[in-house]
Amino acid sequence: MGKVLIIGAGGVGRVVAHKVAKVPEVFSEIMLASRTKSKCDQIAQAIGDRRIQTAEIDADHLESLLHLMDTFKPDLVIHVALPYQDLTIMEACLKVGAHYLDTANYEPPDEAKFEYKWQWAYHERFQRAGLTALLGCGFDPGVTNVFTAYAAKHHFDEIHYLDIVDCNAGDHGKPFATNFNPEINIREVTQKGKYWEDGKWIETEPHEIHRILTYPNIGPRKSYLMYHEELESLVKHFPTLKRARFWMTFGEEYLTHLRVIQNIGMASIKPILFEGKEIVPLKFLKALLPNPAELGEHYTGETSIGCRIRGIKGGREKTYYIYNNCKHQDAYRETGTQAVSYTTGVPAMIGAMMILTGKWKGPGVFNPEEFDPDPFMEQLPLHGLPCHELYDIDLEL
Ligand code: NDP
Repeated sequence: MGKVLIIGAGGVGRVVAHKVAKVPEVFSEIMLASRTKSKCDQIAQAIGDRRIQTAEIDADHLESLLHLMDTFKPDLVIHVALPYQDLTIMEACLKVGAHYLDTANYEPPDEAKFEYKWQWAYHERFQRAGLTALLGCGFDPGVTNVFTAYAAKHHFDEIHYLDIVDCNAGDHGKPFATNFNPEINIREVTQKGKYWEDGKWIETEPHEIHRILTYPNIGPRKSYLMYHEELESLVKHFPTLKRARFWMTFGEEYLTHLRVIQNIGMASIKPILFEGKEIVPLKFLKALLPNPAELGEHYTGETSIGCRIRGIKGGREKTYYIYNNCKHQDAYRETGTQAVSYTTGVPAMIGAMMILTGKWKGPGVFNPEEFDPDPFMEQLPLHGLPCHELYDIDLEL
């Protein structure tokens, strides 16, 4: 039994709050805190669980975090606000003695560059404090890391080629919208591509490499090679990997809008002066775009995210594909938000459960693939994310 503090009341925070409330035997007390308290109140009211307390917090400020955490005394913090707050929340956890979990790795606000080095640097401090920090425990990163660990444990002697494939075949009916925080999303998809091959990183232009890949229950979709954060930890923890890549589908409409946004400077994170006030164009754009947390109602179709792996078992080459499909409408009916938030929030709750029940133990800073994948995999279908496996198939890659 543990007290959990959820920070962030966007689409993902909403799902985490719903899911945590459904497991009272693990999460005895719940607080949902975010920059705008009314959003926390609205979520708590929709869930209807009187155990959910709410609070206003600016998680960029250590002192405010310490004040809140000294009052509530959480055993664990689930951080689903923005990656800019990762380090302040980790600091606060160390000071008050709480475990830490997030779904996106730290990036400095003034540089669109995410890397684990800032958070991995906390390993010894968490070790000394006897606390666990679990990084990147959404779907990708998160479940994709666990899928890889599960494949390595049960299906291969050595994994050699890993392709993480992420398809959103949904339709939200808007000309342009992002499925999670627009600022973080646009920073991510406009970066250069990068993949691991033969012991080194190879960089590509944004969206330079693409393939048609076939997704279960969806069909063929144009998929673009991108850099994604779990590649960094997976190549470190699975040194047998000869190649590791990440693919994501984008529609033509989305990419055209993105090109225009970039060409006119709206994706820029450099502050400009506008009518005497300093603004960041991308932050201004975020204020205009649809709120991803509110896309759910008219969202049709489904997501399909998985790992396609080639390796060796018993001296024979083998292929394996493990994936989950999630329908936007199913996610909306249960939690009031769409499948991208749902597939991120469910694993965050399960990761928190792993730590609080002691199934994932060990002081320090960890990525999900460093723990035993089995207890986590057992929980996925129980909380709305069933997984499917295919063996010895054409991986198309
Ligand atoms: P949203 O933008 O919908 O929600 C973010 C929430 O954080 C908002 O409630 C916002 O408050 C709050 N917030 C922002 N800054 C602060 C602050 N300084 N202090 C306190 N609260 C703050 O984002 P999503 O829910 O879509 O995404 C949440 C996180 O999940 C992101 O980090 C994203 O990168 C990650 N993610 C991970 C995925 C994975 O598979 N691993 C997939 C999808 C997302 P306000 O409402 O006032 O703006």
